[in-house]
Amino acid sequence: MRTIIKGGTVITAADTFAADLLLEGGRIAQMGADLPAAGARVVDAGGMLLLPGGIDVHTHLELPFFGTVASDDFYTGQRAAVFGGTTSHIDFAIQHKGESLHQAVENWQHKAQDKAVIDYGLHVAITDLNDTVMAEIPSLVSAGVTTLKLFQAYKGVYQVDDATLFRAMLKAAEAGMLVMVHCENGDVIDFMIRDNVAHGRLATEYHARSHPAWAEAEASLRAIALAGIAGAPLYIVHMTCAESVDQLRYGRARGLPVMGETCPQYLFFTTDNLRQPDGAKYVCSPPVRTAADNDYLWQALSAGHLQVVATDHCPFLFDGTQAIKYEGENYQKPGKELGAGDFSKIPNGMHGIEDRLLLLWTYGVNTGRISANRFVELTATNPAKIFGLYPRKGTLAPDSDADVVVWDPAAELTVDWRQMHMRVDHNVYDGRRLRGRPRQVFVRGELLVDGSAWHGRRGAGTFLQRSSHAPVI
Ligand SMILES: [Zn+2]
Repeated sequence: MRTIIKGGTVITAADTFAADLLLEGGRIAQMGADLPAAGARVVDAGGMLLLPGGIDVHTHLELPFFGTVASDDFYTGQRAAVFGGTTSHIDFAIQHKGESLHQAVENWQHKAQDKAVIDYGLHVAITDLNDTVMAEIPSLVSAGVTTLKLFQAYKGVYQVDDATLFRAMLKAAEAGMLVMVHCENGDVIDFMIRDNVAHGRLATEYHARSHPAWAEAEASLRAIALAGIAGAPLYIVHMTCAESVDQLRYGRARGLPVMGETCPQYLFFTTDNLRQPDGAKYVCSPPVRTAADNDYLWQALSAGHLQVVATDHCPFLFDGTQAIKYEGENYQKPGKELGAGDFSKIPNGMHGIEDRLLLLWTYGVNTGRISANRFVELTATNPAKIFGLYPRKGTLAPDSDADVVVWDPAAELTVDWRQMHMRVDHNVYDGRRLRGRPRQVFVRGELLVDGSAWHGRRGAGTFLQRSSHAPVI
């Protein structure tokens, strides 16, 4: 089907201009003034902005974690993503001990297969790096998986030692792959958690106290230094505080190929939230920090010290003893209540896949902290470039995929989890007044979201084969 989106203002990372878009064959066939509308469905976008669909490069759909599983699967999470203006994402295929990396990819493909409604890619998270696995790394490129993730934290579960991280960096650099790292000092954190638990300090706020900012800063600098030695590009996921972003700035100022991401929760919440009766909702790793860190991160986004806003979307029900309705069906799974009385047992993770663009627009663009172009750069263009999807995704240009958000900058909403589409029983932004939201969302030329109507189809999403040797931004 041909669609013409008429009368809108196109926003890319670099430009703002009036243009009609002709969508055909899943691509943007033409952009320009007064495109002929004969035989096409016409969407009047007068007064609207046209944005490239958001790309969320950090999600955990259906992740088994803390003895339960993240509550959004590849259908519910992707559906929510589209309602929030995100049209593709990259999830983490996590290698279980003893498995090959290709096996991990296959496991995650299996989760996604019949459910996916939008295009998705996969990173491989390496947790068991023996020589066989090391030799396997370059072969992931031909499978379209060009990014590896390693953890300096979660001792005994995901954590790898420095030699392992360094060897993976060497191997990845050779193959033109990018290494992503969760930077926190897992040894220190493991000790602090055990110590707090042993002394009966079990309240939710001890989650943050056991994950200090300097543990993140130390691990960040260590990863940056290892990347410098290996000559390997590095992407640090979910940076939360001034201490760690300063390390990134230090590395970048010295010309190292290092980049950083933050997520909405780190822009809005502090350890005060952990002291609320519902503090478990705010438990994620690394933890939420201070109001000064919130401000610092906003400044880092505006000044260009951070390159991407992703989400680390990994929701859990707040009260998993109660079923919720999702598209008319009951859903129930153990959630945050697992940690009632012991912070160390609270499933780590928060929602964000649907909230990201809404929040960043209201609190970033509307406040003048970032421009609309920078918004596009942080949420779509940089993610596409860094992760080997550009220019197929991440911009509006002839021949790019027709992933288009018709954005209404004047539309207002008050956040209420019941009106959102993530499969979770709360929203940590409940009650906030937001201005600016998607009116329509096209994915490869198909209208998936039209106001509150949903037209997505399970199984329509495809796996994104990503390129190696992506640029460092
Ligand atoms: Zn994560």
